[in-house]
Amino acid sequence: MYTTNLTFNSYGTTVFELMSRLAVEHKSINLGQGFPDNYGPNAVLQKASEYLFDLPNQYPPMLGVPELRQAIAAHNKRFYGLDINWKTETMVSSGATEGLAACFLGLLNQGDEVVVIEPLYDCYLPMIERAGGIPKRVSIEPPNWKLNGSALRAAFSNKTKLVLINSPQNPSSKVYHREELLHIADLVKEYDAIAICDEVYEHMVYDHREHIPLMTLPGMRDRSIRIGSAGKTFSLTGWKVGYLTGSEELLKAVSKAHQFLVFTTPPNLQRAVADGLNGDDAYFDRLTIDMRSKRDRLAEGLSKISGFNPIICEGTYFLFVDVENVGFSDTDVKFCEYLTTEVGVTGVPVSAFYNRSLEKKYIRLCFAKENAVLDEAVEKLSGHFS
Ligand code: PMP
Repeated sequence: MYTTNLTFNSYGTTVFELMSRLAVEHKSINLGQGFPDNYGPNAVLQKASEYLFDLPNQYPPMLGVPELRQAIAAHNKRFYGLDINWKTETMVSSGATEGLAACFLGLLNQGDEVVVIEPLYDCYLPMIERAGGIPKRVSIEPPNWKLNGSALRAAFSNKTKLVLINSPQNPSSKVYHREELLHIADLVKEYDAIAICDEVYEHMVYDHREHIPLMTLPGMRDRSIRIGSAGKTFSLTGWKVGYLTGSEELLKAVSKAHQFLVFTTPPNLQRAVADGLNGDDAYFDRLTIDMRSKRDRLAEGLSKISGFNPIICEGTYFLFVDVENVGFSDTDVKFCEYLTTEVGVTGVPVSAFYNRSLEKKYIRLCFAKENAVLDEAVEKLSGHFS
């Protein structure tokens, strides 16, 4: 009898997929999986369709089309003051997910350690392990999400190769502040490590907080790879266009994995994303303002429902909700199933982001939805729980 890969076998199907399937089956409002329900910016869609007919549809260059790579460099300069050489320090990936996979496969050797901060986006652990890495976890906990400096230091060793930082973080919605990032940077330098920075929610940061790429801190320019996603920045999750910024040396290694994983990404989508990234400030401001108002709408609605306690959302499009006092005795997974089948609202259980059960019950709800959808979800929940 054949044996399939043991790392991936041990993870099964992601809870996002399972909850989404259950949501479809029960016609439940799906605030589980993180995707917006709008169509994305018209101008970008229009460009993609024009480029499909106007320009070649054969394999584009392995590192991405020049237009997008130039736009990635310009975006880094405009928002973070980074001077990036587009020819050597940018790479387009098929979504941030493939970019992350290419980083792990291109940089890790068997037995290298990777410091990760849980709660963890679901693909991190399986991909690190499949690439031969050994995850070293540090936990941050709701409601304050404080990063404990000595716990972080304890996760480092002379085998540390990578540190994975996700800021703004899914699902905690934490936006790492300067002191924390400086502490992380010090450890990265002390242990001669590399930082992989998943910054896909870089344009969803609220209430005067600031997104600070680790790459901008002293000594981190050539030790960091910054990853963005058109899926998040332009609400086009199905396009799977991601972009990496990093030193020539690091991207050389990463692109070796990328060339054998996917080699390229659809050229018309890349060119349209280039136009999007070059768009005026108003687009980026609007995205933040819209998401912030949706966050407030959902949080306000939920806070009136007995047992629902939304935790302050600093960034991303996820609301982290404490449901410990809702009066449900089983696990968060069972609670999310119950919400879907009995109430008609779907969320995801937060234990999935820790790969273990937690002391308290939390769920994650995505608010990147039409206002009417958010209102209907709140109505259903308050009808059931009040
Ligand atoms: N990182 C994080 C933290 C995410 O939340 C997501 C999408 N949910 C991704 C990466 C993947 O992005 P993409 O769709 O561009 O692969």
